[in-house]
Amino acid sequence: MDLKQYVTTVENWPKEGIIFRDITTIMDNGAAYKYATDQIVEYAKEVGAEIVVGPEARGFIIGCPVAYALEIGFAPVRKPGKLPREVISADYGLEYGKDTLTMHHDAIKPGQKVLICDDLLATGGTVEATVRLVEQLGGQVVGCAFLIELLELNGRAKLGDLNIKTLIQY
Ligand code: AMP
Repeated sequence: MDLKQYVTTVENWPKEGIIFRDITTIMDNGAAYKYATDQIVEYAKEVGAEIVVGPEARGFIIGCPVAYALEIGFAPVRKPGKLPREVISADYGLEYGKDTLTMHHDAIKPGQKVLICDDLLATGGTVEATVRLVEQLGGQVVGCAFLIELLELNGRAKLGDLNIKTLIQY
């Protein structure tokens, strides 16, 4: 299946100069959403993922169905003030802005093999901060999966030699 045809491109959103790649038109097509999820499930099996981690909010959309399919857990990465118990934090830079991410302090067991999922790899700031959170908890990032990769932003450079899977490239 050519997944790219289901991505909608919105120019100058959320601000001038950004070419926004909207994945809601993958999600609202049952066959496309299942196909995308199945690709990541296969990758998760290859890398031996034991738990899925995803940053809010679109990381949940990608990561949760993968965790469900594999009958493994999902641990959310959230903006400050959203998780109810003790958290650890990491700062990160976005293609458009800066922010902080948090995880519950006990979300990952030491040595657990983690697959990080998100909708899109841009500068890599979000996933790099997520990697730091997982590693601070003693987890081992065995893979990172994205529906979309924006090649010109070279997010892979921030991720060193981590194993990365992307389904669509621009
Ligand atoms: P980055 O941290 O720069 O890799 O940005 C990745 C995060 O920002 C992802 O969670 C995306 O949801 C969002 N994002 C960044 N750039 C875009 C874009 N051009 N279109 C859609 N989402 C984007």
